[in-house]
Amino acid sequence: MQHWHAISNVSGYLPESDDAAYPHDTWEDAQSDLIDQMDRAADFYAMGPEDDRATAALASLEEADRLVRAATRGRDFLTYTDDGGEHTIPTAWQIITCTEDCQPSL
Ligand SMILES: [Zn+2]
Repeated sequence: MQHWHAISNVSGYLPESDDAAYPHDTWEDAQSDLIDQMDRAADFYAMGPEDDRATAALASLEEADRLVRAATRGRDFLTYTDDGGEHTIPTAWQIITCTEDCQPSL
């Protein structure tokens, strides 16, 4: 049955949380999950040292948050954020449509 996943990861790396495997019944659930993941990432940078890296990462996440909130319902979504230089490649944030037989991870 068709469902959606909310995934954030650095290209070439496995997703950091098990959330990525979690199937959402509706696109809106995947959207709010992705927004939550962005919020958690922003909290992480906001708690750390206030430097250029954190500023870049927070600005990038703020823009990504705006984009996902404006995303077209039902369509796959992809955007990238700057992680402030932790990796040399950007972090990907996605809502993907899936028809595999995914089970919720425990
Ligand atoms: Zn799936």
